[in-house]
Amino acid sequence: MSNLDHFDAGILGAGAIGLAVASKLARHPRFQNASAVILERHRTFGEETSSRNSEVIHAGIYYPRNSLKARLCVEGRQQLYDWCRRHDIPHRQTGKLIIAGEGQEHELEIIRKRALDNGVADLSLLSSPELLALEPELKASAALYSPSSGIIDSHAYMQSLLFSTENHGAIFSPLTEVKRLTRQDGRYLVETLCQGESYRFTCDMLVNCAGIAAQSVAELVDGFPAAAIPAQQLVKGSYFTLQGKSPFTHLVYPVPEPGLKGLGIHVTLDMAGQTRFGPDTESVETINYQLDPAKETNFRGAIARYFPGIADRTLLPGYSGIRPKLAVDSGVADFLIQAGGPLGFPQLIQLFGIESPGLTASLAIADEVIKQLDC
Ligand SMILES: Cc1cc2nc3c(=O)[nH]c(=O)nc-3n(C[C@H](O)[C@H](O)[C@H](O)COP(=O)(O)OP(=O)(O)OC[C@H]3O[C@@H](n4cnc5c(N)ncnc54)[C@H](O)[C@@H]3O)c2cc1C
Repeated sequence: MSNLDHFDAGILGAGAIGLAVASKLARHPRFQNASAVILERHRTFGEETSSRNSEVIHAGIYYPRNSLKARLCVEGRQQLYDWCRRHDIPHRQTGKLIIAGEGQEHELEIIRKRALDNGVADLSLLSSPELLALEPELKASAALYSPSSGIIDSHAYMQSLLFSTENHGAIFSPLTEVKRLTRQDGRYLVETLCQGESYRFTCDMLVNCAGIAAQSVAELVDGFPAAAIPAQQLVKGSYFTLQGKSPFTHLVYPVPEPGLKGLGIHVTLDMAGQTRFGPDTESVETINYQLDPAKETNFRGAIARYFPGIADRTLLPGYSGIRPKLAVDSGVADFLIQAGGPLGFPQLIQLFGIESPGLTASLAIADEVIKQLDC
């Protein structure tokens, strides 16, 4: 192995999470002289889930108390707004309305209590007239207003993470697919296909940030116990966009229906002012991002409950993303940040189930990873 290139750290995957980990690692005083490489199978960063989401900066409202999702969303949100301000990333603190239909008003109080448990103390209850003053086109009997929710240009965010990482000497290697990972002589041997050629190197620390492919990458680690790789459930989410001017200035979310694998078909806005509806939830077996235009009927039905004006508006097929959910028998699956040390794989950190609010939480997730690595 002595003739091979050696890096202190190998980051597998250049989505928002891999880039946030790489950026934090490159700037951390503990890793000041460490060399790092980010491997990405596509021709550039952020081509998968990180560019197939709602681009919402979540406040941290719905997640179970003491879950990683709850804590890292709140910490990550604060860090993300701060990062956006310091790096001139297009973003907007639009605020979000969680709306209740007739008979659902009590749900808002439950949501408000859950948010309080998570340290989100800025929600306020709006009556129907107060809501209509903010969003005249909405039909709802009450709402919760979350002032700390917002939107972000996720591509510009990832670009800035990569820039800050490269500025600190880390190397980005696109078109490089990880093929095999072997623990040898106290290091990891990483075998890749790089621009069609075989490329091997060694490293001391490995972070698996392969998103929806994290489980497949874990299977490439020679001898890694299969029982420690959590089962994954793929849940596709599709979006339709509204043609023309947006009727809304806030994000609008109906009260989540019990048992739903998402937050219901809601309204988000992007930095260009476009209105998006979605994502819906569809369990799938394989990864296929094609959008089924026949879903429009279901979308119209769901949207009409809170926006009757949809009847006169044109919906256009948008795009889809796939949630890398961990399969759990009951309750809500949390993020899993797994340290390989106790399993015989020191300095290997693997991230599983990084679905929403992963974009919001990315900088806080990176902190958790850094805490578990030694240099
Ligand atoms: C429909 C939907 C809506 C969402 N909305 C929001 C939202 O509004 N707000 C929010 O905070 N979060 C949201 N999320 C969650 C957020 O998008 C994700 O948590 C986040 O993007 C995950 O980033 P990642 O880096 O883990 O994964 P990815 O972006 O998928 O990155 C993983 C990378 O690893 C690479 N890779 C995989 N295998 C290999 C290999 N063998 N070799 C080399 N590279 C490899 C892939 O090519 C990819 O680039 C949403 C998710 C979905 C699906």
